[in-house]
Amino acid sequence: MHIDATPEDLAFREEVRGFLDDKLTPDLREATRLTSGVYSEFETAFRWHRILHEKGWIAPGWPREYGGTGWTPMQRYIYDSEAGRAGVPRLFSMGLRMVGPVIMKYGRPDQKAYYLPRILSGDDVWCQGYSEPGSGSDLASLQCRADKDGDDYVVNGSKIWTTGAQHANRMFCLVRTSTEGKPQQGISFILIDMDTPGIRVEPIITLAGDHEVNQVFFDDVRVPRANRVGEENDGWTVAKYLLEFERGGTAYATTLGATLAGARRIAEAEASGGGRLIDDDGFRRKLAAAEIAVDALQATEHRIMSEIARRGRPGPASSMMKVSGSELHQRITELAVEAIAYYAAPDQPEARVPGRNLDPVGPDHAVAVMPKYLNYRAASIYAGSNEIQRNIMAKLVLGLA
Ligand SMILES: Cc1cc2nc3c(=O)[nH]c(=O)nc-3n(C[C@H](O)[C@H](O)[C@H](O)COP(=O)(O)OP(=O)(O)OC[C@H]3O[C@@H](n4cnc5c(N)ncnc54)[C@H](O)[C@@H]3O)c2cc1C
Repeated sequence: MHIDATPEDLAFREEVRGFLDDKLTPDLREATRLTSGVYSEFETAFRWHRILHEKGWIAPGWPREYGGTGWTPMQRYIYDSEAGRAGVPRLFSMGLRMVGPVIMKYGRPDQKAYYLPRILSGDDVWCQGYSEPGSGSDLASLQCRADKDGDDYVVNGSKIWTTGAQHANRMFCLVRTSTEGKPQQGISFILIDMDTPGIRVEPIITLAGDHEVNQVFFDDVRVPRANRVGEENDGWTVAKYLLEFERGGTAYATTLGATLAGARRIAEAEASGGGRLIDDDGFRRKLAAAEIAVDALQATEHRIMSEIARRGRPGPASSMMKVSGSELHQRITELAVEAIAYYAAPDQPEARVPGRNLDPVGPDHAVAVMPKYLNYRAASIYAGSNEIQRNIMAKLVLGLA
């Protein structure tokens, strides 16, 4: 990939910086700093979504005909880098990054016309109904049934670990529509309105104390058959296409760079053996190794961006990004815990509420360190566990059986 910036690119970078200076208010920055989870707190994420939508910058990855920005790969990279560095809120992106591209590829014209603008505007918030109790890595074994009844499917069963289901008004969902043949052959991809009678959302609170995930129960939930995307019993093809976007193609490296800069700032502020932690040889070595790994990841990201620009999809490289990005993120959050030492211990969720009016135990830069560490333990599990990603790479990249 050609990565020398042209004068136009530099002008674009100035435009992005100006926009971020103007719109990324101190309270939005503060909310992002205190976020431990994958997505920002809902109201914050939604506010930022609206700001980007108003500017026309909400969907850099989408083709222009559907409301994308039409940016070159270099412009996307510049935007992602500047946004990562500035610390923008993390959007609820399952509409933009997952079901949007699927609807573009497999949706009917009426589905595209209805759903895509609502994803862009933020009127629809999506959650992902793939995993079930007992069907995670072995997703094709899923049991949530959709039986035909007139013009509807009647859905019964349960989905688990559903991120953001408490906020979403729609779910894209894999259901079993046939038990004939191989398990993969009896799955369909349907779009469910979360207000439909018979749906119950139960929270699951994580070790970090966050409410991000849920279990969702379906009890005779009627879904119009017109809400199916793709052919009946061919949902596996659709599901796999979506997973490529879930696993890769995003700018991990700039976010990781910003997280690492946070760990460095802590080490600069904290004491160790009569001096500063940042001057401790052992810690500096670990920090430097992590910085090199972030740079290496960035180079890989450039290659993948160029692949997307050429082929329109990330392909199996998304598995590589998922493994490297999540493991590096875990390593960096671990370094931050090491740097903050015993101030990582207090459990003080109230100190992470944006605009709080109480003094935290320990320095302010400590409050989100342990929740981030705990939250990122899940990164090697969600979006397909890292062991499964390694299996995919072994098969598709290395050609092993
Ligand atoms: C925070 C979080 C958010 C999530 N959000 C969502 C969501 O929004 N929507 C959704 O549908 N799902 C979501 N998930 C579910 C996630 O996709 C699954 O947890 C994941 O696919 C693993 O499935 P499992 O939990 O059933 O574990 P299992 O599949 O039971 O795996 C258990 C362990 O065995 C290993 N393993 C299993 N099979 C193999 C194999 N063939 N080879 C080698 N090792 C193997 C796994 O790597 C893992 O370490 C989320 C999960 C988490 C933790």
